[in-house]
Amino acid sequence: MSLKAKFECRICWTIYDPAVGDDVAQIPAGTLFDDLPADWCCPVCEAPKVQFLLIENHHVGIDPTNA
Ligand SMILES: [Zn+2]
Repeated sequence: MSLKAKFECRICWTIYDPAVGDDVAQIPAGTLFDDLPADWCCPVCEAPKVQFLLIENHHVGIDPTNA
């Protein structure tokens, strides 16, 4: 599980980073995306949570071309 995963708005590409939180919505740092309130939306374009996509980190630390 990637509990600290970042999510990206598919409309304006704003990134929600759990390590930072969201000053606009007064979300404290350390709040996971899944723990955001249901009415949370993109601070830039006001897109709802469903418009956010998980940023995959599978390539970090593993180089498949060197396996
Ligand atoms: Zn957005």
